Parts: sequence; structure tokens; C-alpha cells
Amino acid sequence: MIDQQTAKRRGMPAVILDGDDTLWQTEPLYDEARTDTATYVSSLGIDSQEFEQRQREVDLERAASLGVARVRFPGSSVEAARSLAASHSIQLKRRQLRRVSSISSEVFQKKAPTDANAADVIARLRDRFQIALLTKGDEEVQRKRLADSGLAPLLDFAHIVDQKDEDSFRYVLSRLQANPLDSWTVGNSFRSDIVPALSFGMRAIWVEADAWALEDAPEVADYTGRYLTVKGLDEVPDLITKAGEVARDRS
Ligand SMILES: [Mg+2]
Repeated sequence: MIDQQTAKRRGMPAVILDGDDTLWQTEPLYDEARTDTATYVSSLGIDSQEFEQRQREVDLERAASLGVARVRFPGSSVEAARSLAASHSIQLKRRQLRRVSSISSEVFQKKAPTDANAADVIARLRDRFQIALLTKGDEEVQRKRLADSGLAPLLDFAHIVDQKDEDSFRYVLSRLQANPLDSWTVGNSFRSDIVPALSFGMRAIWVEADAWALEDAPEVADYTGRYLTVKGLDEVPDLITKAGEVARDRS
């Protein structure tokens, strides 16, 4: 539905925001689910620390083939429990493995806390920019996280993808009729949020946080000077304003 207000905003430059660990925090939910699962498997005779380490390794390996599929994280817990049980000659029952899976699956039911500054940051940017969410993940899980965040009414557009690449950024900007050269990407993952947007000519702000191991990007050094860095979302509006002033002074 394009109402009058929306129509008026089309063509304005855009800020494309990432969801997980940018607008809302999910990393602590995964840590909590892994720890809760570890507590349960320790009652079955498997060392909890050994389990947590193995689960992370397995999950990283499986990410290559399964990506953001919902079955990945709980399945990695099952596989980690199974392999550790086998190496310690422990027999696990099917119902125990189902319990492992269901405890790990709680990560999808729990509410991801919204960044305390998210609504204020969006409100401050909205008079100059269209605001979009571009988030990678399972469609249903991400729809729930967006609804839980309470931020949906502040967004001009939301798009959920399996993989963020140049095409996903191009698609969002084309829907908003926004020029990439005046538009920004903001996110915590260098590989997903920064690199594809830069290759499409957008400007970029990397929210530096403890990123998920998969997202550690060795290519960061290749992009020196092409993106800006913040410690938190609250720094974004001033940084964009300042960058605009610098660009005007140069022209
Ligand atoms: Mg993220």
C-alpha cells in the first residue's frame, strides 16, 4: 500500500539497517540457549564446557551448507551431544536428543532485546532518509523479531533474505527509488552489511561489536578508508550529518 506520505518519501536517500545484533541483540540468546543445553547434557554425563566448544565448531561447519536455516542451531547441538557421547561411550536415548533439540530451539521463541537507542536513532534519521530493514535469516523468525522490536511502524520498507549480497541492496534501493551514492548501510557484520553495499556504491557504517565467529572478515583490511566505524547505534545520526557536511565542503 502506497499512501500519500509514502509516495512523498520515495526518492529520498535511504539508510538500510541490519536486524540481528544491530537493531536488536540476538547473540546473547544463542549463548543462553547453548549454555542451557550444556546444563542439560551435563546431567547425561557430558562435560558442559566440552559441549559448548563442540557445539560452536559443529554450528560453524554446518553454516557453510545450511546457512541461516532454522534447523541449523538445534541440529548442531544434537550432533555435538551425539559425537561427544560416542567418544565417551555414553548411550543417549532418542528422547534425550529430542530434549537437546528443544532446549536449543528456545532461541527462536525468546524475545531479542531491542537496542535501547534504535527508535530514537531512526526518528532522528527519518526526516532526511527513508529507513529500511534488510535482515538475513529465517523468514518466520525474522518476522517475529521485527514485530517484537516495535520498530516496524518507523520503517519505510523491510526485506528478509537468506543471504545479503549486492542484489539484495539493489532490490531495496530500487523499491525505495533511492540513489545508492547518497544512501547508507549500517550493520554489525562486515561481510554481510558492509562489503556488498560498498561494491554497490553505497556509504557504510560498521557497528563494531563482538560478531559471530562466521562473520569475522579477514577482508576488513582491504576496505580501509571506505567505511566509517561506530561503537554503538546512537553515534550513527551525528556521523551521517558530519559526513554530509564534509561532502558539501568538498564539492
Ligand atoms: Mg547482524
